[in-house]
Amino acid sequence: MRTRSNRAPECGLCGARMKKNGHDRLGRQRWMCPGCRTTGAVRDLSRRRRAELAEFLGWLLAPSPQPSGSRAFRKRTSWCWGLRP
Ligand SMILES: [Zn+2]
Repeated sequence: MRTRSNRAPECGLCGARMKKNGHDRLGRQRWMCPGCRTTGAVRDLSRRRRAELAEFLGWLLAPSPQPSGSRAFRKRTSWCWGLRP
């Protein structure tokens, strides 16, 4: 079993130690959270996460059914359940 790097950053969402996830085009280390599948591309991700959270809250706070493709919707927004208000 490989040991986890001491330099592994903590996940910004769930606080878990992230795992190495290859390298990007420029050869920099990329990281992936084993808990919530967050990768090290924080900037792109946060924009997507905001959209997902908006979608999630739109569903949560409205008396409407889940959007079409609700399985994908649940998977896409499952990380939102881990958030503390
Ligand atoms: Zn995480």
